[in-house]
Amino acid sequence: MFDLTGKTALITGASRGLGFAIAKGFFDHGATVVINGRNLETLEKSANELRAKGGNIFTSSFDVTNSDAIKSSVADIEANIGAIDILVNNAGIQHRELLADLKEADWRRVLETNLTAPFLVAQSVAPGMVKRKSGKIINICSLTSELGRANIAPYTTAKGGLKMLTKSMAVEWAKDNVQVNGIGPGYFLTEMNTALVEDETFNNWVCNRTPAGRWGEPDELSGAAIFLASQASNYVNGQVIYVDGGFLSSM
Ligand code: NDP
Repeated sequence: MFDLTGKTALITGASRGLGFAIAKGFFDHGATVVINGRNLETLEKSANELRAKGGNIFTSSFDVTNSDAIKSSVADIEANIGAIDILVNNAGIQHRELLADLKEADWRRVLETNLTAPFLVAQSVAPGMVKRKSGKIINICSLTSELGRANIAPYTTAKGGLKMLTKSMAVEWAKDNVQVNGIGPGYFLTEMNTALVEDETFNNWVCNRTPAGRWGEPDELSGAAIFLASQASNYVNGQVIYVDGGFLSSM
């Protein structure tokens, strides 16, 4: 039920962190995996880790905010590797600053990467899925798809929007057997959060606020992703699964 053999997956922002953990999960379940990021050198280094195990792992370097680059890269993947059966919109950035000081360019940069890009990449990939009457799209949301937090307004705005984009995609494409869902990670130990882990007060807050009492390990996200990429979720549409150690369930 969770076997991904014969499926091709494109995961954006997968040179490290949660994207790479999802890539490893898909790879271990038999998928042909294409990892994306802007830096080809880092991508190749990560891909080599998996190549050593044998199996199909490819890299595709493009900026998810560049619609021309998306179109040509998706066309290239589909021509040379295979039709994309699974898309994970994972690439994301953070910018920490109070609203009163926030520059318009930083607001736009976060919105473009975290919200507009998933729309652009899905718009390139989904027509093929619709034509083949089969596909899975997973958007990586956040606890901030549900909750506000001071200092990161563009991020919370984008992730809240991404939850609703997930539902809109799901209802438009469900009849064509394309399932679109989201995953909302709690606090995970990745490069994006280095500054937070190193801040003792913040680190203690995460551990006290999260019922599980700790940060998540990136590999703990891949189970939900494998479920949403596999036939086990063929009648699951427009949901966001929160993988958060119980964070959203507690006050
Ligand atoms: P990281 O910063 O560790 O990794 C981000 C990845 O995205 C890198 O591979 C980076 O590669 C790539 N990336 C960034 N911008 C672009 C771009 N414009 N085009 C293509 N690739 C890009 O982040 P995480 O692994 O922590 O986060 C992954 C996703 O999970 C994000 O959407 C994030 O918002 C979300 N998330 C993370 C949480 C956490 O606790 N870590 C919690 C909730 C959500 P490169 O810079 O080389 O392009």
